[in-house]
Amino acid sequence: MSRTPLIAGNWKMYKTGPEAVAAATRLAELASDIVNTDIMIAPTFLSLPLVSGVLAESNVKLGVQNLFHETEGAFTGEVSPGMVKAAGADYAIIGHSERRQYFGETDDAVCKKVKASIDADLIPILCIGETEEQRADDKTFSVLDKQITNGLNSLCSRDLGTLVLAYEPVWAIGTGKTATPEQVAGIHEYIRSLINRLFGNELAMSIRILYGGSVKPKNASELMALDDVDGALVGGASLDVDAFIQIIRYDR
Ligand code: PEP
Repeated sequence: MSRTPLIAGNWKMYKTGPEAVAAATRLAELASDIVNTDIMIAPTFLSLPLVSGVLAESNVKLGVQNLFHETEGAFTGEVSPGMVKAAGADYAIIGHSERRQYFGETDDAVCKKVKASIDADLIPILCIGETEEQRADDKTFSVLDKQITNGLNSLCSRDLGTLVLAYEPVWAIGTGKTATPEQVAGIHEYIRSLINRLFGNELAMSIRILYGGSVKPKNASELMALDDVDGALVGGASLDVDAFIQIIRYDR
């Protein structure tokens, strides 16, 4: 089964509104001829409506880096899936390791956010990955098992038709240390087999599994060439439109 690659940029807490508009405008121009790769950028909530206007006629989609699972209510400081959808987002990054690490996000909270995203017709990108310590303790597979099983708890393959997974080893995020192609190939194959065990072969074959962790123009093509890698979630390098477009064009 062929899976359309997705290259997603996580802009984290960078770029003011005008900076985000300038970068998105340039990216939309540079990516205007790309038809065989899905492209997404996730600016801050604040920039969402501004960037949405710029991307409206383009083939670059918009996402958010987080959301809250309730539809509305007295939840000070939070933003709902319906609100981000109305502001132009199509994707939601859920359970990024920085959210888990700095904001105490649990698998249970992640699961609620995945469900709420699907209900609001957003495509969830569920982030999973082990820390350096967990890898050293040989716990990589059990950590991934737990994050996937609990993060998708009580969902079924029918609900998960659009779900994207992003394998992001925490030790490779923003560190310049990239997992080797051999490491990535083994983990992605394992994740696909786990999805097969939990949700069946159809979802396992169709689900996109991205790699994230210090993806740069120089290492993108060898990672993207791997059978079970269906794109990338890019942090630092997505902030620089020239570097990001080179990653998007990895196979050209
Ligand atoms: C990320 O934040 O999801 C990420 C992969 O960051 P970086 O590309 O900077 O490692």
